[in-house]
Amino acid sequence: MYWEKDVETLSRAKLEKLQLVQLKDTISRAQKSFYYGKTFKEKGLNVNSVKSLHDINKFSFTTKDDLREHWPYGFIAVPKEELVRMHSSSGTTGRATVVFHTAHDIAVWANLLARCMYMAGMRKGDVFQNMMTYGLFTGGLGFHYGAEKIGALVIPAGAGNSKRQIQLMRDFETTVVHVIPSYALHLSAVFNELKINPRKDTKVKIAFLGAEPHTEKMRKKIEEIYGYKAFNSYGLSEMNGPGVAFECPYQNGMHIWEDSFLVEIINPKTLQPVADGEEGELVMTTLQREGMPLIRYRTKDLTKIIPEPCVCGRTHRRIERIKGRTDDMLILKGVNIYPMQVERKLMEIEGVGTNFLIVLDREGFNDLMTVKVEVDRKYFSGDMKQLDALRKKIVEGLKSEILITPKVDLVEPDSIPKGEGKAVRVVDNRKD
Ligand code: AMP
Ligand code: ZN
Repeated sequence: MYWEKDVETLSRAKLEKLQLVQLKDTISRAQKSFYYGKTFKEKGLNVNSVKSLHDINKFSFTTKDDLREHWPYGFIAVPKEELVRMHSSSGTTGRATVVFHTAHDIAVWANLLARCMYMAGMRKGDVFQNMMTYGLFTGGLGFHYGAEKIGALVIPAGAGNSKRQIQLMRDFETTVVHVIPSYALHLSAVFNELKINPRKDTKVKIAFLGAEPHTEKMRKKIEEIYGYKAFNSYGLSEMNGPGVAFECPYQNGMHIWEDSFLVEIINPKTLQPVADGEEGELVMTTLQREGMPLIRYRTKDLTKIIPEPCVCGRTHRRIERIKGRTDDMLILKGVNIYPMQVERKLMEIEGVGTNFLIVLDREGFNDLMTVKVEVDRKYFSGDMKQLDALRKKIVEGLKSEILITPKVDLVEPDSIPKGEGKAVRVVDNRKD
């Protein structure tokens, strides 16, 4: 019944034994990278430092900044010619964090996704329409390889072009889709416009929702509109991408694949572990990756372990739906955006003042980003042409940096309220 029943239902004792062997392997491999070679040496650590899983505590955390500082190849642990694929995190045109994979890594990753999709009910014979961005981002190719492994017919539709998505779905009788939740809502408005009823006029029965936070209420709403079952899919490019944690048919938390990832939940302030069932930041160590092993990677995602075993029989523990972030990253249409990126870009443009505010709204089924920017008073002298030219320049500048086209409102100096203390850069009005 299961894709990999042996692994998925391994007893906890056996699973932990397996993890210990894998952790030791990972430490030996990681040591070959420039970064871990250096940091292990500083602390006098090596594979002999690991006698139990608990010994992971001896090692330092790895952060996104560490990855950026050792860009591009400081973390690779195999000769470069062994690498077959590179991916990056979504959302920046600058020094995005990059992850490299060997052929073995790609095979393991495909397997994890096949496991996830099979768990949710996808089978050979299904028609799978992947509405995620292909390319550097992981949602496209990650799912693609997993779906092929199951033997489904894959339609690599990519993101956007809603009318074509609907046409593909109808012409080829798609049964399973992978979609960003906000795009699923947007697409439903297009269905409406075309007077097509997705519940009756398509054959989709399963959807995988991933890449951005969404509430239980939003899932229910999407399931209600489309009449399919929607499964939460969690991952991040640093841990391959999708295929890290996924819902089983009981849709009650996501099984995190512990034969591939060693999981810790820490208090983001004290950096100490929290008890099972308590909320904290998810930290993971890759257990199978060759090309670029990562030790104690801080995801900045907030969640908790669900301590009770799942009725489905899988022994890999579940995490709750992601609650938020410990940093200020926001996700719009599946794209990661840091307010700092907006600030940096704005400050490069002449005429821009010192204050700005990002406002996120949901209008109907559309997520919108408005950036209010204070600009020099001289632009308000009555010459609209000058103001329009500046606005255009800012829109284009921001688009090139954050990959999303924001609406830009130019306002006079001192018109954005300054709070006391840390500036408020983001107001998120998106509701379910
Ligand atoms: P990326 O590095 O571009 O793959 O982005 C990964 C980030 O997207 C994660 O660290 C999460 O913050 C977010 N993310 C991905 N999937 C989900 C999900 N199912 N629920 C909530 N957030 C998610
Ligand atoms: Zn389960």
